[in-house]
Amino acid sequence: FDQLSGDIWYDGTFVPWSDAKLHILSHGLHYGSSVFEGERAYGGRIFKSEAHTERLLESGRMLGFEIPWTADQINAAKEETLARMQLTDAYIRPVAWRGSEMMGISAQKNTIHLAIAAWEWPSYFKPEERLKGIRLDLAEYRRPDPQTAPYKAKAAGLYMICTISKHAAESKGYTDALMLDWRGHVAEATGANVFFIKDGAIHTPTPDCFLNGITRQTVMDLARARGIEVIERTILPEELSGFEQCFVTGTAAEVTPVSEINGTTYQVGEIIKTLMEDYDAAVRPEAPALQAAAG
Ligand code: PMP
Repeated sequence: FDQLSGDIWYDGTFVPWSDAKLHILSHGLHYGSSVFEGERAYGGRIFKSEAHTERLLESGRMLGFEIPWTADQINAAKEETLARMQLTDAYIRPVAWRGSEMMGISAQKNTIHLAIAAWEWPSYFKPEERLKGIRLDLAEYRRPDPQTAPYKAKAAGLYMICTISKHAAESKGYTDALMLDWRGHVAEATGANVFFIKDGAIHTPTPDCFLNGITRQTVMDLARARGIEVIERTILPEELSGFEQCFVTGTAAEVTPVSEINGTTYQVGEIIKTLMEDYDAAVRPEAPALQAAAG
């Protein structure tokens, strides 16, 4: 992380990057009562800013807390952070957490904090890897079922299994891990949704126990606008070898081709290239028509 200068929006004021600290007894640190967002600005505009803010507020509610700022205030604070950092193309990270007044599982009265940081993050995966496709391992841990965790929340606690899985994959030379869900169905990568292509149609798992990514929804709209069929369904691991192409989507990852899942290889074909271009165009502020197509 080479960003060390600039300011971070912290509970309504800007503080210098290196002073943006929290108390060691913060509930969010001990008990995972923390939610966050990952957003990108392109050419000075935050792509789907309102949708990300709504998801942030909803994530907090799913953990039982109300972030003490309105959607409009949060949207404005993100803009101010970008302006303050003099960034037009950037990654934006809002994070909300329960503070440190009470220690213990119950912390009903703890202050809810909100911070927003922004920095340059050109590519989530290495650019060379992005072009030829990333390699995924199969993760050991599975996405929990909807009765085990509030899966629609972008909650810090749910990322524990993602980090363990990504580290395990990296230690074996892979870029990322593909996670199954509790039933053994194909679910998603550790920070991105997954898609497959066969006979000109796109197949993707139904998001019934993992994030229905904002990028995922955008890319599905872009594919349909091109007349490509998109099928949301149960995908079994036994099917992985039958697909021709594979890619992942996410705010950070954008559209990234996958060249291999644990020994099964995929081409980086025309449909993926088209969707990468369409996504790049849709996120630019000067592309109003595609914006509309992207919903
Ligand atoms: N799944 C997980 C686990 C993620 O962390 C992300 C990134 N937020 C996604 C899916 C994709 O979500 P989005 O397209 O909204 O960034």
